[in-house]
Amino acid sequence: GVREQQHRPHVHIEARLSQNSTMRADSIKQALLSYLDSNVASLESETTLEGWQSVPLLRQHLDLVRVGECAVPSSIVSLQYAQPQIYVYQPAPADSMEEFSANNGEEGEEEVVAASVLELPSRTLEGVWQSLIYGDDIKLRLLNYIATTLRFSDANVDLNIVAWNRVVLLHGPPGTGKTTLCRALAQKLAIRLSERYTHGKLVEINSHSLFSKWFSESGKLVQRLFSMVTEMVEDEDGFVVILIDEVESLTASRSASMGGSEPSDALRVVNALLTQLDKLKHRKNVLVMTTSNISEAIDNAFIDRADIKAFVGLPPPQAVYWILQSCLTELMRVGMIQQLELVDWRTAASLRSEAALGRTEQSPNKLSSLKLWELSCLCEGTSGRTLRRLPILAHARYLSSSAGPQTSCEAWIDAMRTATIDSQ
Ligand code: ADP
Repeated sequence: GVREQQHRPHVHIEARLSQNSTMRADSIKQALLSYLDSNVASLESETTLEGWQSVPLLRQHLDLVRVGECAVPSSIVSLQYAQPQIYVYQPAPADSMEEFSANNGEEGEEEVVAASVLELPSRTLEGVWQSLIYGDDIKLRLLNYIATTLRFSDANVDLNIVAWNRVVLLHGPPGTGKTTLCRALAQKLAIRLSERYTHGKLVEINSHSLFSKWFSESGKLVQRLFSMVTEMVEDEDGFVVILIDEVESLTASRSASMGGSEPSDALRVVNALLTQLDKLKHRKNVLVMTTSNISEAIDNAFIDRADIKAFVGLPPPQAVYWILQSCLTELMRVGMIQQLELVDWRTAASLRSEAALGRTEQSPNKLSSLKLWELSCLCEGTSGRTLRRLPILAHARYLSSSAGPQTSCEAWIDAMRTATIDSQ
């Protein structure tokens, strides 16, 4: 009955309008819904949907349909049990970015870029969420947090009673995708909110550049920066995500202020920033995301403000496998590696025990998959950033002279293995 209908979990679907389409999101949404209704029995979460191109209206106006997450245990979602929730969006062109810089006013002084502003959703952030791979459910947890925040905002919950600050802190070793995850989350948010807000902005504050230099100037910079942010936030049709990278530099400047030479200035800057952030928590249309490479040493005043503190760790072997597999698949797409179907990590891992028993058939795709799994185990403890660089390293060192236009996958994996061992 109707009651049951309402309690079906949502399966989130993001439909991207093509750049020059002027079609109303609503009509597209209806058309896509009715397409799903009559043609699709189940969806696979975190995949690209195909088939909708058979509807002329959709083919003309959409260029991508992505199936996102769903609160059901399996990745195949039956539409009998889940309800499609469609978000139609149109990303801003890739170049819609502004920089907020501050010159210290003195001649010949180098310019400090204190922040950059990116319009959301942005074409530059398309596909980034999917490219991040973790061994745990951190992505889902972040999405759930966002959904919760929105519900509380919508319900007008009194912040004096149920408190939250709209601050998320991601911490962990460098190169684990924290900054990228923040950007990708901002993009998701903008897509999911496109019905409530006409536009979104991502303001990235580089706290390192803000605090490392000229404390006395930084104070004014923070003021100017936040008066810009406040202006943005006052436009209630827009959504603003603020990303503060490397918040540990806040701590550094505070402790510097304890023993250092310019105590009052540094402290004033940090306090100014914290005060400004506090003012923002009463705004519905703001989210503050912060990252830190060190967990212990973040300013307590800051930790207290974060509603969510999530640890982002180094990828476990299965995530390493996914990351390297995505690199190899990309190189196959552009024709640098011979086409080959790599199996998923689970199958690859089981091939290892088969190999130990001497039972592997020597098909090239299984052999390559097995090699890739062994490389993935070898790479445990390597950051995602280093992993994504591995193909270039391997090519520059071991393949550039010998390789023809299409090297075999196996040769690539061998080269990546050698490059890994070299760097360890
Ligand atoms: P951090 O902020 O933690 O230092 P970044 O966000 O700067 O890390 O990550 C750098 C790059 O490393 C990302 O753009 C991404 O390509 C890659 N990367 C890091 N972690 C992962 C991961 N878990 N999965 C996929 N790619 C990753």
